[in-house]
Amino acid sequence: MLVVEDEPAIAELVALYLRRDGFGVRVESSGDAALAAVRSLSPVAVVLDVGLPGMNGIEVCRALRAAGDWTPVLFVTARDDEVDRLLGLELGADDYITKPFSPRELALRVRTVLRRSSGVVSEVLQVGSVRIDVGERRAFAGSSEVSLTSTEFGLLAYLMKHPRQVFSREQLLSAVWGYASVAGTRTVDVHIAQLRAKFGASSPIRTVRGVGYSADAS
Ligand code: CA
Repeated sequence: MLVVEDEPAIAELVALYLRRDGFGVRVESSGDAALAAVRSLSPVAVVLDVGLPGMNGIEVCRALRAAGDWTPVLFVTARDDEVDRLLGLELGADDYITKPFSPRELALRVRTVLRRSSGVVSEVLQVGSVRIDVGERRAFAGSSEVSLTSTEFGLLAYLMKHPRQVFSREQLLSAVWGYASVAGTRTVDVHIAQLRAKFGASSPIRTVRGVGYSADAS
């Protein structure tokens, strides 16, 4: 997911919410850098601030479309009165969100945008008998759905996206909670324990003594 936002505090927050939802996130603060990042990274979607210095969000989207790039775009705007104009531009803007927004609202909009764009509707990951749908944010042990909190889901999704790879608590903390997190590594242990309690014998999480955790079917 590419986040284009020139206000560092908002960019950090959006990136944090998205990472918790299991997305890999790249942040850019200018239109030029955003266009280059779309070309080099092919993100599943772009969360695009309208009010950027220099080339604004609308111009960025227009440049993408002119180049035949239809990567889904979720516009972020601080102004309600801008919304009609945005959607009237026929830029293939898939949705918009107005500042200030809640994590829940952002997650909902992102899911809507991904669902609408064909081919990236959802990513389903499976390790052992545990299966998660990243787009729908649903987790299953065999055929039964397991209800997870946002953070639990983000942690499990991160581990399952890199099966058998062992991560230290510090790595998990920065990937799932974000670099600005004040949470300690003990937080990771607590959430791992909660995931294990919820999945019981199906839990795909393995402890690697002295190193950290991995998702592994064996
Ligand atoms: Ca801005």
